[in-house]
Amino acid sequence: MFGLLFCARLAGAATAYGAEAPCAPVEIATSPTPAASRVKNYAPVLESCASESGSTRLAIRRMSVDGTLLILTVDPQSLQTSLERAACWRCEATSDAAQAETRYLQALHPPQDPTRPPALVNAGLIHGAGGGGAFVTGDLCPSRKSLDRAFFEKLAALGKHTPVMLAVSGGWIARHGADFAWLREKARGGALDIAWANHSYSHPYVRRLPDGRNYFLRPGVDVDREIFETEKLMIAQGETPSVFFRFPGLVADAALLENVRSRHLIALGADSWLALGLRPRPGSIVLVHPNGNEPIGIKLFLRLMQTGVMPLPLRPINEAP
Ligand SMILES: [Zn+2]
Repeated sequence: MFGLLFCARLAGAATAYGAEAPCAPVEIATSPTPAASRVKNYAPVLESCASESGSTRLAIRRMSVDGTLLILTVDPQSLQTSLERAACWRCEATSDAAQAETRYLQALHPPQDPTRPPALVNAGLIHGAGGGGAFVTGDLCPSRKSLDRAFFEKLAALGKHTPVMLAVSGGWIARHGADFAWLREKARGGALDIAWANHSYSHPYVRRLPDGRNYFLRPGVDVDREIFETEKLMIAQGETPSVFFRFPGLVADAALLENVRSRHLIALGADSWLALGLRPRPGSIVLVHPNGNEPIGIKLFLRLMQTGVMPLPLRPINEAP
């Protein structure tokens, strides 16, 4: 039985490539088989790829899923990611320098802001481009509590395809299969437009330790493993990782930032962590925790929406860099 379902989103794909080998983006069917048995030979790459129809993308990962070779690609202008069959693309190795003019590489290598301290807290992009609206982001750190579904129902009530970025940890997915499926259904039905960011697998954290010795600054953190195991789990669950990474606790040093950048992920902070009392202004990246651990932030979000204080519209995270 085939584990892959091919979704013919591109009109004419069947005629261009023949019904046996459609080259539309791949959709992975969920399965009880563990991710490690389905997603294999997972490797970071940077390749410039062209399709027969003339599309161009950058590939950032190669893998096989249920025995089929796939690439995780990024549109270097829109930042949209998709999983594609490797056989449908002609790819060659490229470099950050060769792609430096693309919006994607410029987002990965933003100009230094001299007013900001050298990383540590709130690492990465903290405010969106273009000035208006707000970028709602939710962190799904590992949690024993259930997903705050009411928060997502409120977002969905704003209209079809309400954008929200969810930074999900592998540890959360592993414990919350039903909640994850529920979110996927909200996206599939068109209620929400969810961008999946990577929030690490194990999300290291020790209570009461200072930031400088906590989170990813704990000894022994294997950054590649934290990134790739979470991506593999997302892919095996039928989702496509975005180009965004959020450090646990938003804490990183310069070496960690460089490490994540070398895997072609854009670190994302937030200038409006609601539970910390940071009010949104136009263009803010707003942070809440819908994993049940921070109900005060969710409450504040709903109040800011009701009172018209939240800058609108809510915008997709791909517009933020
Ligand atoms: Zn977290």
